[in-house]
Amino acid sequence: MDIDLARTWVQAIAVAVGQNKDHLTQLDSAIGDADHGTNLDRGFTAAAAAVTDLTADTVGAVLVKTGTTLISSIGGASGPLYGGAFRALGKQLDVPAADSDAFAAALAAALESIQKLGTASPGDKTMIDAFAPAVAAFEERSRQGGDFAAAAAAAADAAEEGMRATTPLQARKGRASYLGARSVGHQDPGATSTALIFRALADVAAAT
Ligand code: ADP
Ligand code: MG
Repeated sequence: MDIDLARTWVQAIAVAVGQNKDHLTQLDSAIGDADHGTNLDRGFTAAAAAVTDLTADTVGAVLVKTGTTLISSIGGASGPLYGGAFRALGKQLDVPAADSDAFAAALAAALESIQKLGTASPGDKTMIDAFAPAVAAFEERSRQGGDFAAAAAAAADAAEEGMRATTPLQARKGRASYLGARSVGHQDPGATSTALIFRALADVAAAT
């Protein structure tokens, strides 16, 4: 990933979130407070604008700026969680270009940030259920010698599988946990947006 690809990724996430805003909000209306689509649309629209205007010498500068903008523009739980994740990702990438192994290590730091802040574990029906398998798949494909685009495609597939697997789970973290057993049978909104974020990465990586 170079500086241009980092910027293009954030812009592609903003487009994908905009296109899926109503879907994300519908999912959050079933087991939350119906704001996940508007939260992320506001946050990533602001982040895309911020990185488009940014003069950056490193991949990390683009990603840290993204994280800081998400934290300051999203009111819900997902703002600090995604914002912290992008900041952690960026802090590991203080270079003009990162190969897939370096990016895999940075993704692990992003996942750790989400887990530290939200104290959720895999299976709690959160964004972690898409994020953790995506990071594992990216790492594995990269270790097997896959290039960045191949690793990103594997991560996106794994995130989507993890997203779908949240449906039968009972939520144990966040607002959805207040519903107890009634949270079963609904796909988690945050796992769904995480899948969009990794699919956007795969798409922009494939186009370079
Ligand atoms: P809020 O719940 O404050 O309305 P959002 O609707 O923007 O915030 O985001 C909800 C999503 O955030 C959930 O679907 C879930 O994936 C994720 N989430 C909530 N709490 C946590 C947590 N403690 N750890 C990880 N992810 C969480
Ligand atoms: Mg919500």
